[in-house]
Amino acid sequence: MHIPQNWLLEQDPSPLNEDAPDMLRIHSIETFGTHDGPGIRMVVFAQGCQFRCLYCANPDTWDVKGGAFKPIDDIVQMAIHQKPYFGKKGGVTISGGEPTLQRSKLLTLFQKLHQAGINTALDSNGRLLNDEVKALLNETDYLLLDVKHINDEWHHQLTGLSNSSVLKVAEYRESTGKPMWLRYVLVPGWSDQEEYLHQLGQHFKDYTTIEKIEIQPYHRLGVHKWEALQMEYQLSNVPPPSKELLAKVAAIFQLYFKEVQVN
Ligand code: SF4
Repeated sequence: MHIPQNWLLEQDPSPLNEDAPDMLRIHSIETFGTHDGPGIRMVVFAQGCQFRCLYCANPDTWDVKGGAFKPIDDIVQMAIHQKPYFGKKGGVTISGGEPTLQRSKLLTLFQKLHQAGINTALDSNGRLLNDEVKALLNETDYLLLDVKHINDEWHHQLTGLSNSSVLKVAEYRESTGKPMWLRYVLVPGWSDQEEYLHQLGQHFKDYTTIEKIEIQPYHRLGVHKWEALQMEYQLSNVPPPSKELLAKVAAIFQLYFKEVQVN
């Protein structure tokens, strides 16, 4: 299936916000996650995404009408049961898909988690920034912001959409003084251009709320899902980044960020 590059721009950025107000539309839930935020976490993968990243490992999360409804209170109860394992740093992360498509429901969820003494993290692609997203960000202890590319044309090619809202989300987060981690998927030939890596560093170097940047090496683990959905996987000839490339990119980011982590 060929994915048109402009149809997404016309999509309503809030298709999931109003249906079934007490329920989240989710893809899956992972317990004892250690890769999505600090400490040991329960990770809820929200259903629905309007980016179309060429390397997406979870294209089965895209369909805004897919997944399954889960009552928000059930998720809170699950988290309360797991709370003893979270320790001082752990908590609940909402990933996706793109969680902010369900922002008003997530605000309710995060408020209830906070009432239960559980910390919250939001893994977002920065799809949009409006008052509802700002309210959600204000209730989010850790923002994990995926910056797919600093150059807007390349961002379009990689995701189907502009990076302008991503940068606005980062700017807003900085204005609140609350912590964020940046996440950068390193795709050879697509997001490894030295010029743009420096540009990304320059853009964010004075941000005080960025605790670290995580480099996520491109992988092909989701290719079978593309095949199952009968979609053309355009990166089939792209190899994962070599150790040398990862080291080079990490060295560039170290010029600008206080902590660089290769996942
Ligand atoms: S933002 Fe995430 S879920 Fe959405 S297409 Fe990109 S990688 Fe996939």
